[in-house]
Amino acid sequence: MGIAIPFDNSYARLPKAFHAPIAPKALAAPRTVKVNHALADDLGIDPTSLETEEGAAVLAGARAAAGAEPIALVYAGHQFGQFVPRLGDGRALLLGEVVDRFGRRRDLQLKGSGITPYSRQGDGLAALGPVLREYLVSEAMHALGVPTTRSLAIVTTGESVYRETELPGAVLTRVAASHIRVGTFQYFAARGEDDNLRALADHAIARHQPDALGAPDRYRLFLEGVARRQGALIARWMLLGFVHGVMNTDNMAVSGETIDYGPCAFLDRYDPATVFSSIDRGGRYAYGNQPAIGQWNVARLAECLLPLLSDVEAEAMEQATGALSIYAETFNTTYREGLLAKIGLPGGDERDSALADDLLTIMKAGEADFTATFRGLASLAAGANGENVGAGFREPAAFTAWVGAWRERILEKHLDTQAVAATIRAANPAFVPRNQRVEEVIAAAVQNEDFAPFEAFLAVLMRPYDDQPEASRWADPGPAAPYRTFCGT
Ligand code: AMP
Ligand code: MG
Repeated sequence: MGIAIPFDNSYARLPKAFHAPIAPKALAAPRTVKVNHALADDLGIDPTSLETEEGAAVLAGARAAAGAEPIALVYAGHQFGQFVPRLGDGRALLLGEVVDRFGRRRDLQLKGSGITPYSRQGDGLAALGPVLREYLVSEAMHALGVPTTRSLAIVTTGESVYRETELPGAVLTRVAASHIRVGTFQYFAARGEDDNLRALADHAIARHQPDALGAPDRYRLFLEGVARRQGALIARWMLLGFVHGVMNTDNMAVSGETIDYGPCAFLDRYDPATVFSSIDRGGRYAYGNQPAIGQWNVARLAECLLPLLSDVEAEAMEQATGALSIYAETFNTTYREGLLAKIGLPGGDERDSALADDLLTIMKAGEADFTATFRGLASLAAGANGENVGAGFREPAAFTAWVGAWRERILEKHLDTQAVAATIRAANPAFVPRNQRVEEVIAAAVQNEDFAPFEAFLAVLMRPYDDQPEASRWADPGPAAPYRTFCGT
């Protein structure tokens, strides 16, 4: 039985200026090493067909599947604040789209599939390590409840990729609501191609904001929708200690999904200045800068859309400014409410909010672990003494005092402590992709072809809010050490 993917492509129908066709590229020995069975089922694809020789060839970009229309997408983008007029899929291609069993249109993209017209000096390839990393982190984010691109499969190509050393090559199959980026709008806006800009906006509206289709003010509604989705998304990142690491405008999807997992990582110790990416020397994309940078990126989209918003410049500007306020309001509300839930006081007032802020201040001063501290509040609420959690602080006294004030507040509000503990567990994961653990499972797969640790960690990360006492080693941050990430693909 052959591979059958129910393609229904729409981006390929857009004008030729939007993309370039990509021919299959022969490969020595593609081999499927991972398939996301549940996701394949959702997409109407037989997961076992992806594990065959033919499936591996299709997922490596070496053979065209029936109905696929492989294209590389063009886009521009601000990289670390510098505008680059043409970037595009330099190491990725869009195989096509499928409508999943929930009726949602999803892109199937291969990442690491070879040279495209947009590869510039790059080789178009990806190494197995970064592919495993994107698979693990994107699927963990999904399980954590964060809008994100998904990972369907990993194939190794049987060929080498040369970075600082020779590495095994691999291709990730990524699934997304779309691959339309702020940078896609910037590409056409910078060229003054208003017709293409309009076609792109209408396409994006049809996919991401169908309610606005046909409305006379649809471009304003769309811009506001992007602002709202992005504000909510970045609030979720902040609440989980996620650092994207490279929030260039070409790495921000207008769908509101987290996209382009490169040098991303989760906080161990809480410090807003945390930067993991080795190329982010100025700390532009530090943990604490993410809310502001998200708004900066929305402002770049708003600039692109000005000619579509109104013929009257002042009116267009007013709509653009309005969208930036919507971003800020959405971020603030989502973050505030989320932070209150993290300390078990959802819907709390200003005093509760101040209590949450105090905890962050104490955590920073005490160099406390972000994930473990918040999760630890669940057992404290349920009556445990604070020693275990407090032990994570350089200066436990401040934390002990905070716990006292917090318990008083819970009493004052006549809350049921078991209910508070349950709220805390639902808002604070026990398991996130801890940096040292991620490195450990990648090393086993890349160096020894041992995928068992990767599978074990992935299984734990699929239930991040469950206690899983048998899996406690995966919650351990490991020895405190500075952690660096690399774009390395
Ligand atoms: P990123 O930093 O992953 O967002 O990538 C920025 C741009 O560089 C995108 O246009 C990528 O397609 C391109 N790029 C990154 N790595 C490679 C590579 N190995 N070969 C070709 N293009 C690449
Ligand atoms: Mg990118």
